[in-house]
Amino acid sequence: MSTQRTTREWQAADAAHFLHPFTDFQALSRKGARVIERAENIYLWDTEGHKILDAMSGLWCVNVGYGQQALVDAATAQLKQLPFYNAFFQTATPPAIELAELLAEVTPPQFQHVFFSGSGSEGNDTVVRMVRRYWDLLGQPERQVIISRDNAYHGSTMAGASLGGMSGMHAQGGLPIPGIVHIGQPYWHEHGKGLSRDEFGLVAARWLEAKILELGPERVAAFIGEPIQGAGGVIIPPATYWPEVQRICDQYGILLVSDEVICGFGRTGRWFGCETMGTRPDLMTFAKGVTSGYVPLGGVMVGERIAKVLIEKGGEFNHGYTYSGHPVACAVALANIKLMRELKLVEHVRDDVGPYLASQFATLRDHPLVADAESCGLMGAILLAKDKATGTPFPESVEIGMVCRGHCFREGLIMRAVGDRMIIAPPLVITRQQIDEMMGLIRRCLDLTLADAK
Ligand code: PLP
Repeated sequence: MSTQRTTREWQAADAAHFLHPFTDFQALSRKGARVIERAENIYLWDTEGHKILDAMSGLWCVNVGYGQQALVDAATAQLKQLPFYNAFFQTATPPAIELAELLAEVTPPQFQHVFFSGSGSEGNDTVVRMVRRYWDLLGQPERQVIISRDNAYHGSTMAGASLGGMSGMHAQGGLPIPGIVHIGQPYWHEHGKGLSRDEFGLVAARWLEAKILELGPERVAAFIGEPIQGAGGVIIPPATYWPEVQRICDQYGILLVSDEVICGFGRTGRWFGCETMGTRPDLMTFAKGVTSGYVPLGGVMVGERIAKVLIEKGGEFNHGYTYSGHPVACAVALANIKLMRELKLVEHVRDDVGPYLASQFATLRDHPLVADAESCGLMGAILLAKDKATGTPFPESVEIGMVCRGHCFREGLIMRAVGDRMIIAPPLVITRQQIDEMMGLIRRCLDLTLADAK
């Protein structure tokens, strides 16, 4: 229980001064924020003293779970030794150098260089600058267009939100910026009726080829995608999708960018989502799991194809952030990656809790509300439907996901609602026993939602 102020006092101060991200300000001030005060392992406690199982890892980021002393110690030691120095103008700090070295080791072999940012959105802004610079340096400045997908999420800055395919975001602020276009997402439930999943995967990948031909291949710079769309509702593409995307990028010489902000650092049961999907990206954006969210850090892994051109022909790259390579963030990332290795967390997801979660999720398909339940590693989604036999959705006005999410809140479970998809991405340290506990809560919330929906 909070000892500093009452929950009501926190809520009043919050409503008076704090404009939250992705929030209807009036709705929040009517309801009052839930104020989270402390955390341990996979659990949170709010200011009312309620214990909550965090099945979303904060915001897809607390991969090693809460309360890891090694990360706290790394931050403390670095704060004492050198809390800040920049990486501009030919300077560097030991943690940033060491992290660059370690990232080159844990990422696929084509990645030997990194450009640091403060977040995933900034990382994707860097991608846009870097991709355009690359083609300029190769004497192909007309290669400007980046192709992305509807319902993708690549961040909230102007370039990040433009790369993203969220119509609600595009509607505010005149987005997307020029030179970014979108194709359909590989969501079988939306577009694949009448086709097997594998057939649909090929169809969806070939939307990329059609768009390249429509634009003219000489104008296309890159394709960007999340291996599994996270914020869009954990859309796991058919197995045929990514290999075909890779083939198309290779055929037309187009750069492939893997946004690993969610899928990176073990989430899918490999270090990076591109390894699970079998692609060889030229650039890879990361953030979140690199520090398990303990402090902000992001960046772009730069494949040798691009790094060579930037280094040998580029001169000064006029781009960078004050916090590129922040020493405290880098020290925490080093401790985080070392801890992930020590605990063998990637193997834990790949061989143990990932397959276990998949088997438990499969049992949810018996539930009258559940039209589908699927997972990959420790990302999962449950599709709610009014009539599961025909796949008929609830009317939007019912807001079935939000109804379910409300029950989760009250029952002590954080699960996110994206339309009619309920999604999870628990900390990678979760155990089988804790998965059982989470599944019990999920079933209870589904039952309560069903009772409301009748
Ligand atoms: N890319 C993906 C795939 C994400 O999921 C996110 C955030 O959720 C971002 C980029 C943006 O990262 P940030 O919020 O750190 O700017």
